[in-house]
Amino acid sequence: MFFDGVRPVDFGKIRGQEEAKRAAVISAAGGHNLLLIGPPGEGKSLLASAIPGILPRLRESEMVELTRIYSAVGLLGDDGNAVTRRPIRNVHHSVSMPALVGGGSGVPRPGEITLAHHGVLFLDELPEFSRRTLEALRQPLESGVVQITRVQASLEFPAQFTLVAAMNPCPCGYAGSERCTCAAKEVDKYQQKISGPLLDRIDLQVAMRPLTTDERFAKTKEGESKRLRAIVQAARDKQTKRFANTSISCNAAIPGGAVADYCEFSEDGFSEYKRVLEESSVTTRTSDRLARVSRTIADLEDHPQIESSDVLEAEKLMIKLGQE
Ligand SMILES: [Zn+2]
Repeated sequence: MFFDGVRPVDFGKIRGQEEAKRAAVISAAGGHNLLLIGPPGEGKSLLASAIPGILPRLRESEMVELTRIYSAVGLLGDDGNAVTRRPIRNVHHSVSMPALVGGGSGVPRPGEITLAHHGVLFLDELPEFSRRTLEALRQPLESGVVQITRVQASLEFPAQFTLVAAMNPCPCGYAGSERCTCAAKEVDKYQQKISGPLLDRIDLQVAMRPLTTDERFAKTKEGESKRLRAIVQAARDKQTKRFANTSISCNAAIPGGAVADYCEFSEDGFSEYKRVLEESSVTTRTSDRLARVSRTIADLEDHPQIESSDVLEAEKLMIKLGQE
């Protein structure tokens, strides 16, 4: 398993990139999919490798479910101990479609997305994955399950994972700066490898920028992940209460039709929400995403109702929002 036996990098050791770090906290708290876009060497993989250190605890029922999955595929380890931590699966772009989503010849086997159930699926260099493989993620990202269709029967595996993905903005990696050597057409082609419908399912999309010299030499601290994990856990506990007696596991999984039931705004918060939607004339799917992310930020900020500051921050971390 990814990072097994290795202690996750402490958030306090990551210099700069405050926006991306905040997005990672929101992702961990509410189970939101996260895309990190930035030049090579600016810490995308480093940040991803720090995320396991701030994930909320597994609930009892989630442990049982995961242990059953890992036992069925013979991945429990020699001690046969139960799965007690959220799984992190780091999958290379050369992965085959059956290995990623499940299937294969003979008896269908669960893929990486099922092994990442209740945990994180990390895909580095997202545009390097085959288009077909990426498109196969759409349905499970939407429904939290993957259907393997066979001539005789169709099978279903659980796959409620949080996608954390990273990509360069262009083939050379430096689009947006003078260092970029790519033609505009090449940049477009590269970015279009990630389809709109897939991006539509990634709640948080943040750009990582080169550090300033001050940031590069800033002092680091220890223990930041521990502090953040407590905040994430408190936000997740609120969700456990909110979704008691439902099958919803976290804010990111609120069904489209139920957003209004679970995302309660203050008066100011709702005005702000309507302003954002009116200014960018977004789809229903995107307006639901904005509400879910705002709900998670409100949980992190201990706001019972979603306030305008929560909406504003959510808007900032969804850079696709104005580009539809
Ligand atoms: Zn370039």
